Amino acid sequence: MPLPDGIRTVADRLRAARLNAQEDRIRRRVLSILALGVTPTVSILAERCEIPSDPIREILGRLAAMDLLVVDATGEIVLAAYPFSSIPTPHRVHLGGREVFALCAVDALGITAMLNEDTRISSRCAHCGSPVEIQARPEQLTRHLPSEIVVWFPTSEGDYCSVAESRCPNISFFCTSDHLETWRKVNGQPPGLVLSLLEAFEAGREIFGSLLAEANAR
Ligand SMILES: [Zn+2]
Repeated sequence: MPLPDGIRTVADRLRAARLNAQEDRIRRRVLSILALGVTPTVSILAERCEIPSDPIREILGRLAAMDLLVVDATGEIVLAAYPFSSIPTPHRVHLGGREVFALCAVDALGITAMLNEDTRISSRCAHCGSPVEIQARPEQLTRHLPSEIVVWFPTSEGDYCSVAESRCPNISFFCTSDHLETWRKVNGQPPGLVLSLLEAFEAGREIFGSLLAEANAR
């Protein structure tokens, strides 16, 4: 696990949240809807969980307060639930016959272990914009181009209420460590970690591998 102790991941926040069975059921349903490439809304969740809209809305609010997901200003639409984003991001993840967006590079790498499905990630170098392509199975990376991909993991957070808004936008792929260093110089040398692609993949597996399991099974 290459991430230092001070960094709280969504897996840590989930453990600390001690969700009740209904909250956890809705949390997992949000993730499984997003995994289909569909944006979860209060009405979709109410229908699929067979629970009235008001309790769904309240539970989404509680999950958002614990930074397990992000809802829009109306509280009706789930904008993101780690590792997925309802809104397009630079990290497109192809699953069998469908496509989803990940919040960041590590999240994109964690989806294969979380869903136990093969994935193909299409992203871009955050410095030069050139394509980054990665294929992964739940247990291992299978192919990637270019060969020297690295991942930047910032260790400071901004003043936003969610990690999705503060840290995720900067957890990026770079085609080479030179491009990462150039980007860091241009951006005032922000504090963070340089992860090899394999280290980032292992971090993704660690963070997201058991996220779909029921709370009492984790
Ligand atoms: Zn580049």
